[in-house]
Amino acid sequence: MAGHYDPNNIFTKIIAGDIPSHKVFEDDVCISIMDIMPESRGHVLVIPKQGSRNLIDADPEVLGDVMKRVQSIAVAVKKAMHADGILLRQSSEEVAGQTVYHLHFHIIPCYAGQRRNR
Ligand code: 5GP
Repeated sequence: MAGHYDPNNIFTKIIAGDIPSHKVFEDDVCISIMDIMPESRGHVLVIPKQGSRNLIDADPEVLGDVMKRVQSIAVAVKKAMHADGILLRQSSEEVAGQTVYHLHFHIIPCYAGQRRNR
C-alpha cells in the first residue's frame, strides 16, 4: 500500500542485527552495508535508522543528516574502490523500482570503460 511504512521490513532487521550484513559504516543516524546483489564493485546502501517508507515520506529534519552521511560515504567508497564516478539512486515506490520499503540510498561506483545503461 503506497504511503504505508511497515517496520517489519528486512532493513529494520539488519539495523537491529537480527539479520547479518556486511556493514561498512554505522552511527546514530544510519548504517551503510554492502548490497547483497551489487550492480558494480563496491555497491553499498545507506540506510537511515529512523524508519520511513521512502524519500516521499521521509522526515526532512533527519534527511539533512542522512544526506551528509551519503556524501561522505560516497567520497570514501569512490576513494577506496578507485572508482571514476558514483551513481546515487533512490527509488520511491514499485513503479520506480523500489523493492525494500525502508528508505535507502544506493551508492554505485562507476568505472571508466564499464558502460552503464541507467
Ligand atoms: P531497491 O530495489 O528497493 O531500490 O533496493 C533494494 C536493494 O536492497 C537491492 O539492491 C537488493 O539487492 C538489496 N537487498 C535486499 N535484501 C538485502 C539483504 O538482505 N541484504 C543486503 N545487504 N542487501 C539486500
